Amino acid sequence: MKRSRLLTRLWEFQNKFGFISDNAISEIAQKLRVSKIEIEGVISFYHFFHRQPTGKYIIYLNNSIISEHKGFELVKTAFEKETGCTFGKYCDNTLFSLFETSCIGLSDQEPAALINFHPFTNLNPEKVKSIVQKLKIGVSLETLQNNPTSKIQYIPSGNKTIFFRDYFLGNSIKKILKYSPEELLSTLFKTNLEGHGGAFFSTGLKWKYCKESNSTKKYIICNADEGEPGTFKDKSLLNNVPELVIEGMIIASYITGASKGIIYLRAEYTYLFKKIKNAIQKFKNKGYLGNEILGMKDFKFNIKIQLGAGAYVCGAETALIESLEGKRGEPRIRKYFPTEYGYFGNSTVVNNVETFAKAARIIELGTDFFSNIGTQKSKGTKLISISGDVAKPGIYEIEWGTTIKELLHLSQATAPYYLQISGPSGECINEMEFDRKICKEDLICGGSIMVFNRYRSILQIIENFMKFFNEESCGSCTPCRAGNQILYEKIKKIKKGICTSKDLEEIKEWGKIVSLTSRCGLGQTSTKTFSMAIDKFKDYFNLKVKTCTDNCSIEFDMEEAVYDYDSIIKTTQF
Ligand code: SF4
Repeated sequence: MKRSRLLTRLWEFQNKFGFISDNAISEIAQKLRVSKIEIEGVISFYHFFHRQPTGKYIIYLNNSIISEHKGFELVKTAFEKETGCTFGKYCDNTLFSLFETSCIGLSDQEPAALINFHPFTNLNPEKVKSIVQKLKIGVSLETLQNNPTSKIQYIPSGNKTIFFRDYFLGNSIKKILKYSPEELLSTLFKTNLEGHGGAFFSTGLKWKYCKESNSTKKYIICNADEGEPGTFKDKSLLNNVPELVIEGMIIASYITGASKGIIYLRAEYTYLFKKIKNAIQKFKNKGYLGNEILGMKDFKFNIKIQLGAGAYVCGAETALIESLEGKRGEPRIRKYFPTEYGYFGNSTVVNNVETFAKAARIIELGTDFFSNIGTQKSKGTKLISISGDVAKPGIYEIEWGTTIKELLHLSQATAPYYLQISGPSGECINEMEFDRKICKEDLICGGSIMVFNRYRSILQIIENFMKFFNEESCGSCTPCRAGNQILYEKIKKIKKGICTSKDLEEIKEWGKIVSLTSRCGLGQTSTKTFSMAIDKFKDYFNLKVKTCTDNCSIEFDMEEAVYDYDSIIKTTQF
């Protein structure tokens, strides 16, 4: 169990010295009884740990597609000009270090960056100049940082709003006194509560499995590692009503018998750490956390927060558990569910932020309240993060069953053409599908919609997504590691104008192979959008093929592309 402190120890050194030195590794290895080489392996896995000295201010600029569209390149150039540093390179500058990073949960306020994990939003070259100049003369980050709060809009009328309606601490917890764990489980089943992180597995079933487990220790883990590009709804819940999420965890503890809870908070949301910690303290003060909760002798539950360190794949529940155990966040081979073999082998419930918040509201408001909201299979409301080519980006609480068209209207989309549903690992839709309803019966959505207008390059969108997956693949299985790289090379080929229709077919074939043979959700979904886009935007891709056929330099470029392609296969260990 000592090893579970590894990430926290590494953060202590990273924060104090700006990097993790050989001496730091030796010290940690001795104290936690972990080999130095293993610690090296862990450090190299996470984006935010550095083995070389960095400047006093580490700047992480988001390179998501939304950021690209809103001026990423200009902002990047401005940072380099003002600081004298180069992105991605360790230099002698003792004041600044620059790195690109994937989505930081601020897609409604792009371009955005984190400076020592303080948020800076709506950046432009002038703003960058001013920030850097002020930092140089010692103005504090606290004074300069921006408010990361997203605008929240409610679509359900009147009393139907669930997540951001009036909240009173302990409202749902007090209710559990009246019911047995079995009765509460039955309430969850009646409302069809499912995981709102994207997998939509029955929450009631998950909690039931944990309740019935013989495990001597049980854990409730809140997955606050919201890394899917374009998604920032969980950030809004943690920012506005962290108490609601905690209440959901306490209810889960009551039902399952778990006595320990962990909130795994992505490092990109470090600025929410204090807020969540204060919320936990409020529950302790009220006697809703600790021993003998609500006067019940056997009801004890405590929650701690663990910071991640920058790894998209840790959003996968078994990778997250590995990370909490102080290891590289590599997903486990699916042999057991975490409720059977989870955190250090104990029965563990892992649910996402929104799921816990919704569970708390279900217990508070009862099944009748939910029966008329949403659709037959999707009850209640859903939080959607909307970004891209819309005049009103932000969080929308929608009733399940709302159409895409309604959302586009409300968010004031401008010439929408290509929509990405549920982030890069989700699916894309075209204009013909705007009447579709967001719900389980039609178009399921994990929590984000990125809107792109007809003037955007679809290839640029796909290229950004594939680059993201290549960077975030943990590399432990070949189909994901090599397959995504091969597809990325195909994009280069299309860009060079040497793509043939055979390539488009191959892209889809490779997509199937990667999806069917990868170990975890990342590989299983990473190629979906590319293949779908080829089918749903046929005219666009056919034009790319046609351009190629007319290209007189095709023979030379073809050879080059074939060489690239071969070199990947040669360097990949199958
Ligand atoms: Fe790692 Fe990709 Fe395999 Fe998942 S599918 S375990 S991210 S290599």
